[in-house]
Amino acid sequence: MTSEEIRLLAKEADSRLDSVHSSESLEAFRVDYLGRKGRVTRLFEQLKTLSPEERRLLGSSLNELKNSLEKKLEAKVSSLSPPPRGREGFFDPTLPGLRPPQGRLHPLTQTIREITALFERLGFEVVEGPEVETEFHNFTALNIPPDHPSRDSFATFYTREERERESPFLLRSQTSTVQIRVMQKRKPPLRIVAPGRVYRPDQVDASHSFMFHQIEGLMVDEQTTFSELKGILHLFLRRLFGPETKIRFRPHFFPFTEPSAEVDVNCFLCEGRGCSVCGGKGWIELLGAGSVHPAVFEQVGYDAKRVQGFAFGLGVERIAMLRHGIPDIRLFFENDLRFLRQF
Ligand SMILES: [Zn+2]
Repeated sequence: MTSEEIRLLAKEADSRLDSVHSSESLEAFRVDYLGRKGRVTRLFEQLKTLSPEERRLLGSSLNELKNSLEKKLEAKVSSLSPPPRGREGFFDPTLPGLRPPQGRLHPLTQTIREITALFERLGFEVVEGPEVETEFHNFTALNIPPDHPSRDSFATFYTREERERESPFLLRSQTSTVQIRVMQKRKPPLRIVAPGRVYRPDQVDASHSFMFHQIEGLMVDEQTTFSELKGILHLFLRRLFGPETKIRFRPHFFPFTEPSAEVDVNCFLCEGRGCSVCGGKGWIELLGAGSVHPAVFEQVGYDAKRVQGFAFGLGVERIAMLRHGIPDIRLFFENDLRFLRQF
């Protein structure tokens, strides 16, 4: 026996241990090297035949080999044994699965996406704008004069620090602000719809909230007509409420459109006979619309003599409430899963 022999045996054992991948072959390995007739054990027996000097020298190398093999064997055992049973680390593929609760889109998000998708099919582009706005975008540019009641601090949320300054910031009270922002940046022709949140300091009740959603539409070109506006809204409302839907325009006043109209659809619940939803009128008020006022075009630098346009705006909550028979606007914002799961 030589120290070279011991070195080779250690090397061979290492490479063989690398190819061990089951507890059976690991046991075979153990018996082969460290068992009672194992190769290392046999070398220990040979020690007796050597001189005391050689015995000391080779004996210590043999001990080292034996210890290191035992350590490696132990490490291999724990790497081969299955992970501990329990909640972690053990996977039983035969157990029925734990299904994570499935999320869904909020009914208002669904309504917004449905409506904007309808307008996208009519060639409108979806645009969004900031919720914190300037007085210019929310009022001045929309031809709302300084003494208009909607500018009062009890009709609009102003940011407190800015109230005293020359041009205060506010939470937009309508999505018409996006019209102004788009027209300031781009030239006609334009076809946009702008969905988003708006804010008004209203007392919260079944039909009012201090925050709600609107969708604003705007079309500007060299020539647009009121009949185009009517046609687009009729197409849109029929897709939303069914092919039998009738609409009517009632004259109205908005500062930013002239002429202006409120648009009603026939009550789909009572079919015009009158019920509590339509207040006995047979018609449901749905949106406001009109031809863009020349003063608005002037505010954004358009030549009011060379372009025409129309705009319309609708409340998302109102449409969702009508379509799903939801009696109270507060249900949208209470995060009650019993309500939200129904959509
Ligand atoms: Zn009705």
